Amino acid sequence: MAISPHPNLPPQRGEGASKLGTILQALGPREEDLYKCVHCGLCLNVCPTYLETGLETESPRGRIALMKGVRESRVGLTPRVVGHMELCLQCRACEAVCPSGVPFGRLMEATREQIVQQRKAPWLRRAILRFVFRHLLPHPGRLRFLGNLLRLYQRSPLWWLVQRLPGIQRLQGQIPSLSSSFFRPRVEPFQPQGSKKMRVGLLSGCVMPMAQAATMEAAVRVLTRNGCQVVAPPSQTCCGALNIHGGDGVGAQRMARRNIDAFLDAGVEAVVVASAGCGSTMKEYAHLLRDDPAYADKAKRMSALVVDITELLARLPLTPPHGRLPLRVTYQDPCHLAHAQRITAAPRQLLRAIPGVELVEMENASRCCGAAGLYSALQPQMSRQLGEHKVDAVLATEAQVVATANPGCMMQLQAWLRRAGSGVRVCHVVELLDEAYRQVGEG
Ligand code: SF4
Ligand code: SF4
Repeated sequence: MAISPHPNLPPQRGEGASKLGTILQALGPREEDLYKCVHCGLCLNVCPTYLETGLETESPRGRIALMKGVRESRVGLTPRVVGHMELCLQCRACEAVCPSGVPFGRLMEATREQIVQQRKAPWLRRAILRFVFRHLLPHPGRLRFLGNLLRLYQRSPLWWLVQRLPGIQRLQGQIPSLSSSFFRPRVEPFQPQGSKKMRVGLLSGCVMPMAQAATMEAAVRVLTRNGCQVVAPPSQTCCGALNIHGGDGVGAQRMARRNIDAFLDAGVEAVVVASAGCGSTMKEYAHLLRDDPAYADKAKRMSALVVDITELLARLPLTPPHGRLPLRVTYQDPCHLAHAQRITAAPRQLLRAIPGVELVEMENASRCCGAAGLYSALQPQMSRQLGEHKVDAVLATEAQVVATANPGCMMQLQAWLRRAGSGVRVCHVVELLDEAYRQVGEG
């Protein structure tokens, strides 16, 4: 198929076109996904990196043209090309508006894997990410050990001193503030209040039980308040989202198999996820393990069970709380809830069900806040720009609280609101529900 690249793209021939082109085609994005793009450009005005830079190469259409160039051996995976791919937030806003159904998330995941396979990223970054992806994230015990050390450090005078060193401050700011106690999966289920409506599994995840243990505890209380028996199997692990986004598909497959075994063995009717990024990944386990004869069917069953916590509560339907929270609240759509899972109504419906809450919309609520997994550490400049825009949008609403449904968004919002000197509170939707229940002893 003859493809006409966009005129704004960088030179296509002689820019390091790889001799291994034919071999690499097998590693990169799938042809049937790639050639769906008809270059209409409808995705450009929702792409945060295009809106920030105005560059075609930082747009979905430009990145797809580059992927095609690599596939057809007209362009090599040069540092410039890799840079355009790595600036992508993998927010999937483009995918949600594409009239041709281009699965951009999958394309970018395959491209990131191609970059890793060909060792195109700097070696130090590759070594650190490989350590994190293979030796840290899949091991909850090691994560907790590291979390305990970090918590000690964060509460020591050393943290305060280091915080004042120029340069280090930014790096230290990337480390999430850890909860005073961690949420731990356990063998015994959490029992429902009143009659049991359903038995659900709860994903614990990797960072959330350590950085947002209070959110996990609120999630359990709200679910049990709504008639769910909640099982958090100790054999579960991180969902694999960070691995997939970082090009480690093989590591993500291993983690997916462990979670599938953990939750299917637990005999649950739904697998509830309070983190939009994790939920979106787990809903796509069927695709991740499509070529694994031993797990393809189980992965389909698992994906069909996965629900975001706001989706499940709205569907039950929610038992409305009677406690009153007289708060002006705005809602930030996490990309992987709004664009990847296409869930925007359920969290707003839950917030409106809380007596006293006045829900006000912020401008561009579904535009990425710049968190995007490890993005804030790897692309600090773009992450900062997007974080600052988000803070402006939140402050313009004059809300007292910004609610969201993803741990990464919560950390990014907290960090940039704090830097802006704002006291606006950031929380998960279920935390507000929980407070309303508990205010009148319903939790
Ligand atoms: S909206 Fe879809 S088809 Fe149009 S340029 Fe973007 S990715 Fe291609
Ligand atoms: S995933 Fe997000 S940042 Fe990447 S091209 Fe699409 S809209 Fe732009």
